[in-house]
This record gives sequence, C-alpha cells and structure tokens, in this order.
Amino acid sequence: MAFDLIVRGGTLVDGTGVPGRPADVGVAGDRIVAVGDLSGVDPGGVAAWIDATDLVVAPGFVDPHGHSDGTVLVDGALASHLLQGYTTQLSGNCGDTLAPVTDLAREAVEIALAEVGLEPTWRTFGEYLDTVDAMPLGPNVAFLCGHNTLRSAVMGTRHDAPSPADAQAMARLLEEALDAGAIGLSTGLIYPPGIHARPEEVSALVRVAARRGGLYASHIRNESSGLFAALEEALAATRSAGDSARLQVSHLKAADRFVHGRAAEAIGMLEAARAAGLDVGADQYPYTAAATALQTVLPPWLLAVPVDETARALRDRTVRARIRDEIAVGIPGWENAAADPGWDGLVLTASPTHPGWAGRPLADVADDAGCDPLDLACDLLADDGLTTQMTIHCMTEVDVETILAAGWVAVCTDAGGRRPGHPVLDAGVPHPRAYGSAPRVLGRYVRERRVLPLETAVAKLTSVPAARLGLPDRGVVRAGAFADLVVFDAATVADRATFGRPAVPPAGIAAVVVNGAVAARDGVETGARPGRLLRRG
Ligand SMILES: [Zn+2]
Repeated sequence: MAFDLIVRGGTLVDGTGVPGRPADVGVAGDRIVAVGDLSGVDPGGVAAWIDATDLVVAPGFVDPHGHSDGTVLVDGALASHLLQGYTTQLSGNCGDTLAPVTDLAREAVEIALAEVGLEPTWRTFGEYLDTVDAMPLGPNVAFLCGHNTLRSAVMGTRHDAPSPADAQAMARLLEEALDAGAIGLSTGLIYPPGIHARPEEVSALVRVAARRGGLYASHIRNESSGLFAALEEALAATRSAGDSARLQVSHLKAADRFVHGRAAEAIGMLEAARAAGLDVGADQYPYTAAATALQTVLPPWLLAVPVDETARALRDRTVRARIRDEIAVGIPGWENAAADPGWDGLVLTASPTHPGWAGRPLADVADDAGCDPLDLACDLLADDGLTTQMTIHCMTEVDVETILAAGWVAVCTDAGGRRPGHPVLDAGVPHPRAYGSAPRVLGRYVRERRVLPLETAVAKLTSVPAARLGLPDRGVVRAGAFADLVVFDAATVADRATFGRPAVPPAGIAAVVVNGAVAARDGVETGARPGRLLRRG
C-alpha cells in the first residue's frame, strides 16, 4: 500500500468515544487508508511523516457553530480556528447570512460585509457559495441559510406577519439555498427582524428545511428567564415538521439569575425529547461569558425600524426615558441584559467610532465620561449605526460544566475566523472563544477540572458535530474517512486567549491535517490551503 503521509506512534482517540489506543494512521491522497501498526512500512516510500510519540491523534475538530460568512472572504485560512485543530466549520448561524441578497435585503448584507471591508458581488445563495468556493481555504467550510436574511429579502424592514405570498417567497428562497448546498436553516430570534417573527412563521420554514433533510439551528428566542419556553418553541417547530426534522439548539446556556443553576433542567428537557424520538442536538462554547451585538439591550419595538431611524430615535430623550423604564420593569419574553447581568457585566469588544473603548466594561466608560450607562449605550449605538459589539458576563461555571458533561452536546466557537495582527481580522478585543474553545475543553475541563473524559471531549469536538452537519466521512478516524486529523499533547494542550488578550493561539496543538495535507505544525501554519466548501448531501 502506498502512503502520502503516516502519523506514527501516537495514541489514537478516534472520535467515536471509545478508549484511546496505540495506532498509526496512514493517509493516501485526501483519505485515511490504514489504521493500526504501520511500523513495517518502508519509510523511503512515504512522502511525509508526523511523529506522534507521546501525543494524541484525533479526527480534526468540527465547529458546528461559526460565523465566518464574511471573514472567510477576507482570508480563507481561518487561522484562529485552524490553529486550534478545527478542520471543518459551519457558518451562517444565528439567522444572519450574506445571501440571498435582494434589493430589500441589500442594506443588511452591506452593513454586515462593511465590517470586513467588502461588498456583495452575488445575489443567490448558490452564487455566495460559489464565491466562497473560489477562495483558498484552510479548513473545510459549510453554511446555513439565515431566517433573518430570508425575511429581509422578502419583507425588508417590515415587522408584521408575512402574508401567504411572503411566506411562499421565503420558502422558495430557502429551497433554492438548500438545493445550492446550504446545510440547513438558522434562526436568530433575539435579533431583528427575526425577533418579530411569530412561531408559525419559523415552523413553516423548518418544514421546508426538513423536507430536504436540512438542519434547523436555532439561536432561540430567550436564553434567560424565558429559556424553557424558548426551548419548547424550538422543539415544537421541530415536532411539527415531521420525522425528518432535525434541531440544533445553538450555544446552549443559562444566561441570567432566574435560570442560573438550571442547566440540568434544560439538558433534561432536550434529553426527554431525544428519548421520545426527536432528532435534537445542541452546541456550547466553554466560557461563562456570551458575546453579541450591543443593540440587543434595546427593547424589541426599537429594533422594528430601519437602522438609521433607530439611530435617530436613540438620540431622543423621550425615547431614552421609555427604554430606561422598560429595562427597569422588563417586557415579557424579552432578554434584558442591561438589567441582568446589568451594565457592569457588559464589556465593549468592538466599536467602529470608538475603537479605544474595546475591552472596557461599558459601566466604566460611562463613569469616566460622567454619564449614565444607558445614555452612553444609546450614543454609541447611534454613532456606530448599531454595529457595536460586546461580551456579556452572564453565566455560572456550574451551568457551563453541567452542559459540557453531556456527551451529545457539541463544542463550538460561535466565532468567525480571525488572524492576529490582521488589519481587519484582528479588530477590537473580541471574545477569546475565537482562539481558545477547543483547547480550553481539552486543557481546562478534561485535564484540570476532570469534568469529562478525554474520549468524550474528542467525540464532542468531532463525530458529534459531524453528524449534525451530515458528514458521515468526517469527525472519525477510520480507513475510508477523509484525512482530517489533529495531533495534540494531552499534557499541555491549553487555551491562551483571555478576555484581556484574546488574539493568542493555543498551546499543545502539534499538527493539523486537512484533506490529507498538513495545514499547521507546532502552532504555525504551513501555508497549505486544502480546505473545501462542503455542500449538503
Ligand atoms: Zn447566536
């Protein structure tokens, strides 16, 4: 047998969850062709070797929840992810995607792309995928089609319910996206315009996705006091879509004091649905802070108008008085992060007009400016055209570890590809999950805190998410599978990215192989771009 690459002498943790065992891995072309004792192979005939003595050999990590829709077009290497061992990433999450583009959706797509300095050159979802396909890629990438984008494409900034014709038009655009290769549908029900969608609007689209075997990935309507109702809404949409419906609950968490300590209940609710035969999965990033758009502190009615109108309204004192009241009292169903965790728990991470504030708690910046945090937030959002980003320190370690211990919950990054020092891809002071998620699970939670065994953690990073994406030949090391591999040192693997200094790749990742080509060695990219665009089916 001829080999292009042999990874020899390591402990194979194959992604299925079974105990690690000594095994060499032989690769020919883009496939694994042999797993076992390859010590008898004539070394002269093998182009490349990786010595994995004292190291773990695992399938390449699969990120089921990423946001590289725009950044992949700036730099297809996705360095922040590749250097963690990710060999596949699913983007298009949380409802916002960069296609389809219609005249009505153009503004939203243009705003999103402006953050990475680009403009759309495509209209259909298929044309967007073709644009990505033309990029040299580090890891493999795949995409969901977002409900917010579909809604904007058909309804613009309207926030009423879709007419039958609107609903049909959204369904048709989703079908086109799925047929072009989208992995499924995503929703982001805390963001405009999805926040205005009633459950039946979403259910209708979940049925469209289900008919084609597509995944339904949902950033649910509420991860705080309304967590259980929001989970039930996602489950109900999935049940109503028939046997082929498949749900992925995005970045599962218990995000405010009403639900702190109740992660086990959320896990139990989803496990009951799984036991009843529903195809339900979930993912999680291993941190106690979330990250999202600062505009989510605004009450939903304010997110119901075009961006420039919202920005104008935010300068208005009477509008601010109403916001202040609503934050104090709350609105049923609305996540209210300005009240819980409160302004002290919100840290600015990116602002185009005030880049120097990135990394600072919003309350501190307001203190320095001698103003109220809400006034500062309103001014900043208006200045930034609502694009300001933040982290929210809102979870408990106990809940994070409870969710992490569930073997069926995949690990994700919830981040787009970044690159240290890059003028666009290193802007701001983002959440460290972009650089540290996978090694943090392996270092902090497996080795240090012993929350879960290594083999379970590797499965949660590989075969579990690969199954959600519908990739039977990835996420596992066996003869015949694609040669996506990561070699790491279980004794030293660790995240080094922190909230203060996030753009730091991890320690202990010895090699990353994508489709049979070595893409990183000892924390350094080789320059190879072996990744592919993966289309559904
Ligand atoms: Zn999300």
